[in-house]
Amino acid sequence: MIWSFEVRGDLRCSGDHIGTRIIEQFVLEFDDEEIYVGPTSESMSFWTRFGWPMCECDSCRGRDFIVRRP
Ligand SMILES: [Zn+2]
Repeated sequence: MIWSFEVRGDLRCSGDHIGTRIIEQFVLEFDDEEIYVGPTSESMSFWTRFGWPMCECDSCRGRDFIVRRP
């Protein structure tokens, strides 16, 4: 579960895609695990770039968490 994740303000939009690279490394490390992301309205555009679906379990119903499944 990724609860909080933030790239330092002066490093955002630097063209280095630091946030994306951190998540790619994280996914490699936890390759065989489900990863849940609780996006905020501000971070949703960041998370949608990974193409992971919303969790459709009975409690989320596609509203709360993005899930990356192995
Ligand atoms: Zn769920």
